[in-house]
Amino acid sequence: MVASAQRPDWVPTVCPYCGVGCGVLAAACRGGALIKGDPDHPASHGRLCCKGMNLGKTLEPENRLLRPRIEGRDASWDGALDLVACRIREALDRYGPESVAFYVSGQLLTEDYYVANKLMKGFIGAANIDTNSRLCMASAVAAHKRSFGSDTVPGVYEDIEQADLVVLVGSNLAWCHPVLYQRLVAAKTARPQLRVVNIDPRRTATSVAADLQLSLRPGSDLALFNGLLAEIERAGAIDRDYVARHTSGLDEALMAAKAFSLAEVAEKTGLAPSDLERFYALWISTPRVVTLFSQGINQSVSGTDKAGAIINCHLASGRIGQEGMGPFSVTGQPNAMGGREVGGLANTLAAHLDLENPDHRAAVRSFWQAPRIADKPGLKAVDLFHACEAGQIKALWIISTNPVDSMPDADRVRAAIRDCPFVVLSDVLSDTDSARVADVLLPAAAWGEKSGTVTNSERTISRQRAFRAPAGEAKPDWKILCDVAARLGWQEAFAFESPAAVFREHAALSGVAGALGRDFDISDLAEIDDAAYERLQPFRWPRAKAKQGGRFFRGGSFYTQDGRAHIVATPWSSCTADPTAAWPLRLLTGRVRDHWHTMTRSGTAPQLCRRHPEPTAEIHPADAERHQVESGDLVRLTSPLGAVLLRAEVTDATPEGSIFAPIHWSEHYAAQARIDALIPADCDPFSGQPAFKAALVRLARFDPDWWGIAAAVRSLRPGCDYWATARVNSGWAAALAGKDWAEIGLEILGSDRLGSLMTLESGPDSRFLVSVENGKIAALLLVGRHKTRITPAQLANRLGRDLNESDLRLWRKDAEGGPPDPIVCACYTVGAQRIRDAITSQQAKDLDSIGRLLRAGSNCGTCKPEIAALLTETA
Ligand code: SF4
Repeated sequence: MVASAQRPDWVPTVCPYCGVGCGVLAAACRGGALIKGDPDHPASHGRLCCKGMNLGKTLEPENRLLRPRIEGRDASWDGALDLVACRIREALDRYGPESVAFYVSGQLLTEDYYVANKLMKGFIGAANIDTNSRLCMASAVAAHKRSFGSDTVPGVYEDIEQADLVVLVGSNLAWCHPVLYQRLVAAKTARPQLRVVNIDPRRTATSVAADLQLSLRPGSDLALFNGLLAEIERAGAIDRDYVARHTSGLDEALMAAKAFSLAEVAEKTGLAPSDLERFYALWISTPRVVTLFSQGINQSVSGTDKAGAIINCHLASGRIGQEGMGPFSVTGQPNAMGGREVGGLANTLAAHLDLENPDHRAAVRSFWQAPRIADKPGLKAVDLFHACEAGQIKALWIISTNPVDSMPDADRVRAAIRDCPFVVLSDVLSDTDSARVADVLLPAAAWGEKSGTVTNSERTISRQRAFRAPAGEAKPDWKILCDVAARLGWQEAFAFESPAAVFREHAALSGVAGALGRDFDISDLAEIDDAAYERLQPFRWPRAKAKQGGRFFRGGSFYTQDGRAHIVATPWSSCTADPTAAWPLRLLTGRVRDHWHTMTRSGTAPQLCRRHPEPTAEIHPADAERHQVESGDLVRLTSPLGAVLLRAEVTDATPEGSIFAPIHWSEHYAAQARIDALIPADCDPFSGQPAFKAALVRLARFDPDWWGIAAAVRSLRPGCDYWATARVNSGWAAALAGKDWAEIGLEILGSDRLGSLMTLESGPDSRFLVSVENGKIAALLLVGRHKTRITPAQLANRLGRDLNESDLRLWRKDAEGGPPDPIVCACYTVGAQRIRDAITSQQAKDLDSIGRLLRAGSNCGTCKPEIAALLTETA
């Protein structure tokens, strides 16, 4: 497993970031791992995006949790596990099964998930286990189950390449699923007749590949797809044979869909009637059409209906289950699908069985030899934390996630967790915002240290393999859960010795489900031995005698009682409140290219912090003018629930009346940028998924008394109104601003571990301070009444050098003169200006020539959409 410096020992595994599920070859080395794409993996064929490429830099974070902690003090594993089991037992005995809850994660491996679900639903006896996947794709699950009778993704990734039309809805695929986007772009390059339509209120990096961009009004997708269903009928494109043989409910769905004329759909969506007609004509005239959707659809109070409206169009036209066609939900997380397969959601049962079906419950209980089985759905994520607040939950176990930052109404969630009598957190890091409110911390094995399986968005199950020893005393999550279960008295049922043993049981249970007529069946692998499990190659489920891989539903055979798909009426309802005088702007939330969730992994890689070093608010020029804001200013966004302070970026890519802000920054990385603290906890009634894209806010420019930049060899946690830190090669860099000019000193950086202090400059309008350790620069602080043109990353380049005061002053003068060049290519650190220069002076005309000249875009390719945009803009 351990690689030598000369000959890397490549271990095939999978990327732990998004639901594309790319294959990675990893080889342990000092300080991390060497990483490259796995050419044999079917999801990615050797490609990786910049997040995947930089995984090797994320393996040794400063704040790794190395041993158990109880109330902030190191503890033994036995002491911590005894305490966890004791507090769960106490809650069970005094208050019953409903007083215990698990909140887990799409980052877990299927084996971890399986054990957690078995423990909660079969032995504790409640269904209070929910997952952060609830925040990402629960509406797609609910829509699949409502339409198909099962949570089945009908298609495969090849469909995206084989289609003649790919419609992307609510998905910035270029940034959120970059390798899938690259597969789409490669297919379009090879076959230019492949058309792409991008449906998103914002123009994003994904728009670059689109033949048609539909920047619809936020939240109006339901009107758009109901309109499409009505047009399919008007155009005579209903597949009457498929509908008659395999579906029910079309008439009711059509009645709801025809509620609006084309002009009314145009009015609801804000789209030009000609664009609508073009989109409808293209969709209707193109049999091979894939409609791919993601969080922009799912994260809504009508997310299930929106996904259902998309599915309806495919069912009514019979465009499902065949090459190049079908509705396609792509998941955000690496193992959201695996979690669904083991029943990791509070309203599902293992192996895609139904929690509310008594036969299914009896089958699972008997298989597990369980003392009891949950007999009703448990608390979905938002309700689970509300139950903590109400005092119902006495023992909460959070595993591998950070709800204090990622849940809507995040401050309320933080208070609810703090007030819960007993909270245990299993995690890799010691100081996430959630760790600060937990009683017990359990060190979990990280990516690269643990083994198991994950399932990507197209049902491919891949092995994630360990290639380095666990740090400190960290253990895999399945093992921690088994150890607690044993202490609760269920040793025999949790006597797994390896992830392979867990997988065998999971596969065997899926055979029980298969026999009950369910879709998820991998029972061919129920007796896989340890060696074969170790060698297991990626495969698409099902894997059973009756069916191996492939697509679903070409010939009907849905998993409903009558075997027919339900074309469900999805009547229009406005899913967003209208802006008011007090709250005039709509907040759209999402991700940036190089970060992931709350940055607990991506924030540790310097290469991933270059492109987006600070939390931003993207503002349309008209709104910016109205609020007298320019790019680079600080702005306060306030909702009825809270406020954040962000760096303004004025762009007409964001629609007028809306602000876009990324979700990633926690209190670990910024003073006030926890976006989910602004979001109300309104949920879709079917899926329980929160509406993350519908908050109303107001905007105000924040005028600080001073601006600053800082850098230090150790992590920074400054104490001023605005700060945002980012990892750089030499340590940490930060942008700062504040109101109190008189108070400024190096102590503002929030570290008492810095060396001796020197003042290089102290005038009425600026101060330049440096701290020196062993003759080397350990920290720098440059503040002034006006913004400096020097970036924090530039300042950080001085760290670790010998102190030479006159050189430092000279450097500062020079650096102030040159405008910073925003990084476009994170792999080779190529900035926008260098690319523009190459286009103008060296006559680079296309992506290939930029790659040849500067290497930009030639590695992971994630920045290609931005380079393409620079090519267009500069030309
Ligand atoms: Fe990882 Fe990028 Fe592939 Fe997603 S697209 S799995 S983040 S390498």
